[in-house]
Amino acid sequence: MAKWKCGVCGYIHEGDEAPEQCPKCGAPKEKFAQLTAEEAELVERSRLSNGLHLQLSTLLEEVICVAARGVEDNLDPGCLKIFTQARDCAWVLRQMIKAEIATHVGKGKWG
Ligand SMILES: [Zn+2]
Repeated sequence: MAKWKCGVCGYIHEGDEAPEQCPKCGAPKEKFAQLTAEEAELVERSRLSNGLHLQLSTLLEEVICVAARGVEDNLDPGCLKIFTQARDCAWVLRQMIKAEIATHVGKGKWG
């Protein structure tokens, strides 16, 4: 299916024709341009990547919860070291994912 991009807000519409009006910003049909096959593929890949980021973020959240319980348990220094590191690394990764997603959204990369 063809993809059309709103030249005002970057909204991506899928269909044979551009919509009469952009559902996001209200721009008229003339503001829409059809994406080339390569651009459309990039949008698909960006959506996939977005989904992977979100999936990873959910898993990291679980890592943070599990590790926090281990830190609380504090059985011995070896365990504490692993749980602390797991919690801190997962937290850093989650922040990186949030920042990356914000960049993509800011650029209007994702439809
Ligand atoms: Zn728009």
